[in-house]
Amino acid sequence: MIDQPEKIPQHRHCRNCGKAFAGDGQFCGEECKGSAGTDAKKKIRKLFFAWILIVGVTVAVVAVYYLAR
Ligand SMILES: [Zn+2]
Repeated sequence: MIDQPEKIPQHRHCRNCGKAFAGDGQFCGEECKGSAGTDAKKKIRKLFFAWILIVGVTVAVVAVYYLAR
C-alpha cells in the first residue's frame, strides 16, 4: 500500500510574521504589509546613518592625520 501524500491546501507564508495564510500577496494582512514596509524603511534609514557615520569618522580621521603633520 502506498501512502498518499497529505494534501496541503494552497497557502503562502507571510513575509512579515511567517504565518500561513490563503490568498494573494506576500503578507497575511494589511497590518503586516504596512509594518513590513516601515521596518524596511527603518532598516534603510539605519544603514544610511551607519554609512554616514563611517564616512564621517573616516573623513575626520584622515583630516586630523593630514592636519597633524
Ligand atoms: Zn503576517
